[in-house]
This record gives sequence, structure tokens and C-alpha cells, in this order.
Amino acid sequence: MSYGYLGKIIRIDLTDGSIKIEEPNDIFYRTYMGGKGFIAHYLLKELKPGIDPLSEDNKLIIAAGILTGLSVAGVPRFAVGAKSPLTGGYGQSEAGGFWGPELKKAGFDGLIIEGKADKPVYIYIKDGQIEIKDAGHVWGKETGETQEILFKEVGDKTIKVLQIGPAGENLVKYACILNGLKHANGRNGLGAVMGSKNLKAVVVKGNKKIPVHDNEKISEISKSFLSYYMENPLTRGLYEYGTPAGVMGNNAGGILPTRNFNDGEFQNAEKISAQVMVDTMLKKRVGCYACAVRCKRKVEIQSDDISVDGKYGGPEYETVAAFGSLCENDDLEVIAKANELCNRLGIDTISTGMSIAFAMECYENGIISQKELDGIDLSFGNKKSILEIIEKIARREGIGDVLAEGSEAAARKFGNGADKFVLCVKGQELAMHEPRGKVGVGIGYAVCETGADHMVIGHDSLFGKKGFTLDSVKPFGIIEPVDALDLSWKKVRAFVYLQRWWSFFNMTGICDFVPVPRGAMPAEDVVALVKAATGWETSLWELMIAGERAINMARLFNLREGFTSEDDTLPDRLFEGLKNGRLEGNSISREEFKEAISIYYSMMGWNEEGVPTKGKLLELNIEN
Ligand code: SF4
Repeated sequence: MSYGYLGKIIRIDLTDGSIKIEEPNDIFYRTYMGGKGFIAHYLLKELKPGIDPLSEDNKLIIAAGILTGLSVAGVPRFAVGAKSPLTGGYGQSEAGGFWGPELKKAGFDGLIIEGKADKPVYIYIKDGQIEIKDAGHVWGKETGETQEILFKEVGDKTIKVLQIGPAGENLVKYACILNGLKHANGRNGLGAVMGSKNLKAVVVKGNKKIPVHDNEKISEISKSFLSYYMENPLTRGLYEYGTPAGVMGNNAGGILPTRNFNDGEFQNAEKISAQVMVDTMLKKRVGCYACAVRCKRKVEIQSDDISVDGKYGGPEYETVAAFGSLCENDDLEVIAKANELCNRLGIDTISTGMSIAFAMECYENGIISQKELDGIDLSFGNKKSILEIIEKIARREGIGDVLAEGSEAAARKFGNGADKFVLCVKGQELAMHEPRGKVGVGIGYAVCETGADHMVIGHDSLFGKKGFTLDSVKPFGIIEPVDALDLSWKKVRAFVYLQRWWSFFNMTGICDFVPVPRGAMPAEDVVALVKAATGWETSLWELMIAGERAINMARLFNLREGFTSEDDTLPDRLFEGLKNGRLEGNSISREEFKEAISIYYSMMGWNEEGVPTKGKLLELNIEN
């Protein structure tokens, strides 16, 4: 009898319509745990090197984790992976919401989706039964309408719908996958992979109980979390203001990405602050499955100029910054509308905002004109143009068709030095975190297997000075503060430990806002949760090793695809000074950064080219 997981993985070949159930053993689950572990395992083992990510040779892996769906806060997550059409490398993105727990209640830990259907289809999974159904009637429709139609068709409004919008169908390179209309597997263009397979949606409904080893212990941990989580200022802040609370803090610290990462301070930041959101448009604080933190927002606007539908949620910090300060837009209503549009059409808010800001800088510098922009004045701060361009990207119309390829490809098309204004790593646009004020985030952008990604580690401020967040990471061996601007081996060492912890989150389905250091649940309770769910006599050590294993497997995938140490770097702009704000003039030293990456390789047991050594792979039980 397995605990914490169901022991069943669905394999569907959309080309011939075959459906199989695979039943890996306990060693498989204990080695890979789900999420990132499954994805790295299957992509490495089953994908041929060099395939076209948008061909039927690619496989879409959807994987819950061993904690997903437990009756405790912060375990709603699941991951989707494939070879990324945006980066050409290892692709993965996680989401919360309710879909992952429902998949497990339907009896499965994950899906491997192969081939390509000859016409649009959706997959319907209900309590152990799996069907491939026609989706011709919803192809081309926006996400809200699709969900309504599927509710009616199935005759059940409680089904959970994971789907792509028109952007995924149109193979936009940063199309996302949404569940519940507002929880996104946002990054790496996995919505385009789904679209390339003619797969519109995966619908799940489950009534089974997830088997666990020690339910009493899980209830005890859950109750104990409820007794203290609101005392933790980080968790309390998430409830009160959501992630947009980061806008004013980052602005004061000079690290709010502004004007396409030229500046670190936005003069009108207050107008797009979390307080303004609370005062003017917030309708409800909402959350994911079983989570008391409720950091997500539901916003609604009904005015003569603009209407925003609350069913698409509300903008998170990344979205506020990407369509706000980054584009010098100080209108929070327009940001809320941009968020709604992205969720209706199915595109990643980060890469969309970054592609628009990139085009704005190209326009400002005369590299493109209104002629290339279909007559649109794309000046920084022109809020109306942001909404027009989002629609064009998702529908691949005019300039939108160029930007839909991602800003790196768009720069190649524009020429004339447009590449100076691209802020990507491995082809993926930076998230809304400024490495010139928290250099560990820069290491994360550079070495992350999915390209620039802010969800690789706990950010520098969490262990930058004495206090409760530093205390919370002492069990990992990070016992002294390391300044946010310190790029020495001490930062790299903290990074290496926290990267393993974050990788473990992505394998198990736990949200990084709940455990330490970003949340309130102590590491020992997380370990106890894994023990109680699975019955394994495990330890923090084993969980960190599992996290490290997945990092190495994803690394091997990228090396096989031709990535080298040259790709573990940052855009030139970050080696130049910030143009305003508290850290004006601050830059990252190119030499120090190179040295930090070299130290990272050696701490990881990789050679000077960033290739894992044979001994490291064998230690991690990876046969390559
Ligand atoms: S903390 Fe927020 S994002 Fe994380 S599970 Fe809870 S509601 Fe979802």
C-alpha cells in the first residue's frame, strides 16, 4: 500500500488515442517524489535530443507531488514540464489552485502526454476513468467561455479545468496554462506545447481520499500552523496585501524594475501599490486548496472606461510590476485589466510585460516606428497601448506576431542593436526582481535550468540580517547573515543550500509561501509532514538530496540540448549601474559574478564547464 501518492501515472498518446496506466514502485516515488523530479526523469529518459519543442516528438508531463492535496495549508501545487519552445531547453512551471489536489483525488499522480491529436481534444479524468473527448467547439475560445461550456457539457460546476487560451492555440512562445481561470503554470511557454498537441484542456474530477500514513499527525501540524501563521509578519502581509505588498518595499529599496530595468525606482509607485488595490478594487482575499494564507486577490472594476471581471483573479506582484513600473504605467486599473486579458487569452504576464517594455525601449530609441507597430504609439507610460499589444500578441496579429516569439527573437528581427534592450537568460525574460540589489537572485537567473526564474531560492533579504528569517534557515547551515549585495562564496553557499530546498518544494507540491524562510512553517514540520504523508522514515538531509538530484537531472537535459557555461550569465544591463533610486549607480561586477558562478559549479560538484562530475551523479544515484 502506498501513502501520500496513488501509485498511478497516466500515459496518453494523442496520435493513436491510446491510454495506459503505469504503476511505478516505491523506490521511484522516493527518488523523484513528483513535480520537478518526475519531469526531469521523463524528459531525460524519453525525449530524443534536439527535437522541435512544438512537434509531436515533445512530451508534456503534468505531475503532482507527494504532498499535493493533503489537508493542510500550502500543498496545492503541481508542475507541468516539456522541452520549452521559449528557451529550447528544460521547461517547467508550477501552479497552485485546486487542480493538482483534484487529480490525486481522481486517482492519479501525473500524466505523460505524447504525440499530437489530429483535431482539437480535451482529456476528461473522473475517479479512475479517462476519456479523450472532442474539443472542436471550444477551440479558439477564451478561457472563461471554455470553462463555462465544459461545466455545462459535463453537467458539473465542480470539475477542475486546466486549459490553454487562444495564445496557446496560436503557439505564442510564452503561452501559459491556467486552472480555475487564474492559477497559471505561467513560464516557459508550456501552453504552446499543449496547443501544438491540439490539446485544449485536461478536466479532472475526483472523490477518492488520498491515502496517508498518519492522518493524526497531519491534523496536528495543520492545527499548529493555524495557531501561529498570522503572527509571522511575512505570512500576515501576504494575507492583508497579497504579493503586491512588494511594490512599495522594493521601490524604497531601489529595486523595483522600472523602464525595462533601466531604473530601480518608479516615481508613481504609490499609485500602483497594494494599499491602492485594497482601497479601490479588492473584492476578496482568496487562496488555493486548503490554504489559510489566502494571498491571492480577486479584483473587480465596473466604470465607464474599464471593466475587470473578478473571475480572473487579480494581479500579483509580478504582474503589477511587469505592466506597471516596468512600462512606466501608473494606472492600477489598466494593470488589473492587463491581468484579466492575460488570463482570458492564456499568456504569461511576466514575459508579456517584458516583451512590451522591450518594444517600448526599441521605439524610444528609433529602432522601430509606428509603422512596424501597426500605428500604435508605444511610448513608455502609454497605458492604452499596453492593452492593445496584449491582444495582438495572443492573437499573433501584426507586431504581436513578432513579439509572440519572445523578446530575444523579436530583437533578431528588428536588428539595429535592439538586442541591447533584451533582458533574458537562456531566452526567457527576467522576472520582476532586480539582481543589482539582491545578487543571489542574479545567480538564480543565471544558473536556473528554465532561464531567468525568480522561484529558484529564497531571496537575499531573507538571510541578509539577523532576525527570524535567518533563524529559520539555521537548520540548513546558514547561520550568519550574508548581505544582499555580497557576491562572495558565502552568498553562493547560502544559494546552494536554499536552491535544494526550493527544488524539493517543486517536487512535492508545497508552496514556498508556507514553509520557512518565506513562510511560517518550520523545516522540521515540513519533514514531519513528508513522514506522516508517506510513512517514510525520512530526514531534512534526504529531502535536500532529492532536491539536488532534480537540479542535476535538469542540468543534464540542458547540456544534452547544447547549453554551456556561456549560457549561465546575465544580460549586459545588469553589469551597468542603476539609473536612479536608492541604489543609483549600483551594478554587478562582471568578474565577481563570473567567479561566483565558478564557485557555484565547484560547490555543486560540477567541473569548470558546469558539467556534473561522474562522482556527483553517482552520489545522487543518477546513471547517465
Ligand atoms: S500561500 Fe498563497 S499561493 Fe501559496 S498555497 Fe496559500 S494561497 Fe496559494
